[in-house]
Parts: sequence; C-alpha cells; structure tokens
Amino acid sequence: MAGYKAHLATGMALGLSAGIGLVLFAVISLTYLPLIFVAVIIGSFLPDLDSDTGIPVKLLFFVLGIILAASVGYYLYDEVEASVYAIVVGVWGTFGSINFALKYLFKRLTTHRGIMHSLVGVIVAILILNSAFLAMGLQIFDSLLFSGAIGIGYLGHLVLDETISIVNLSGIPFIPKKSLGTALKLSSSSLRMNIALLVIILVLLYLNGILITG
Ligand SMILES: [Zn+2]
Repeated sequence: MAGYKAHLATGMALGLSAGIGLVLFAVISLTYLPLIFVAVIIGSFLPDLDSDTGIPVKLLFFVLGIILAASVGYYLYDEVEASVYAIVVGVWGTFGSINFALKYLFKRLTTHRGIMHSLVGVIVAILILNSAFLAMGLQIFDSLLFSGAIGIGYLGHLVLDETISIVNLSGIPFIPKKSLGTALKLSSSSLRMNIALLVIILVLLYLNGILITG
C-alpha cells in the first residue's frame, strides 16, 4: 500500500497535468486551474477513507460534523428561534451523532481495500459528487468538471496502490505481494454486493438525470 506522501505527490502531479492539459486544449480558462489542482488532490485521498485508522476518515467526519452542526445551530437560532439550551443540545447532538454513530456505521460497512478500491468505486464517487454539486446549484459543465477531476485523482490513487503492489516483490522476484489485484479490481467478488452496487449506480444516474433536467 502506497503511503500518504506518495499519494499526495501523485495527486499533485496529476492535478497539475490535468489542469494544464485542459487549459491548453481551451476546455477551461486559467482561473479554473487551482480548483482542478485541488479537486484532483482531494480525489487522490478519497479511496483510503475505507482505512479505519487513516487521517482521511477522521477529517471527513470532523469537517462534515462541523458543517452540519453549524447548519443545525443556525437553523435553530434563525428559523425556530429556539432557546440557547436547545441550540447547544442541537449543535452537540448533531456533531456527536456524525462523529460517533455515523462514523461507526461507515467503518463497519467499509473494509480496507474493499469496494472503494475498485473501478466501480470510481464511478459511484463521480456520480455522488456530481449530484451533490448539481444540488448545490453548480452548472452542469462545472459539476462534471470538478467531479471528473476528483475521479481522476481517485483513479490515480488506485493505479498507484496497484503499481506498488507489483513493484514490492516481498524480497522474492516474481512473487507479488498479497495485496496485488486488490486496488484496481473492477468490482466486488460478492454477487450480492455487485447487485447492490448496480442498484446504487442506477439510482444515482436517475438522480443525476432529474437534477440536470429539473
Ligand atoms: Zn489505497
């Protein structure tokens, strides 16, 4: 498994190449370049969210907790005009349930180098991000651009993980490490999981369709 520094370096190189390439082919203006760069780097960390001990998963739930707790606090203060006590309970309750209950559930559902380290994982990530960006009010061009950039970083991570599996030969030539083939698989080996993924992809495609046309 490639380390955090290797993923950062690859993400930066990919982000820069993707950004410059898109500018050169006049797909985007120069102002987009830093955004594409950051999006690719974010993508290059996403697959390791399935690693329970990793920093990405802690950071994700922490940031998500702060954003949602602040939104709940603001809603209670501004819309409901709730008491200070109710606001404090609402804010801490939201932050706590995301950082304990939701994180616990996420960790139980994902295994390291599981489905998030697969090509289907890339597709699901792009579709989730694209629908989130569209729901946030981004234009279709921008949402596809950013979710695509994150997808490039994501794919780069899988390729790097897989390449390092081949290169590290456990000291014995031509006997690859056990992790070989775990990072860049097409999908899951379980039929039930694959059916579930197919349903998820269809639902996400439908959702994207509604958001684009609606
Ligand atoms: Zn990985």
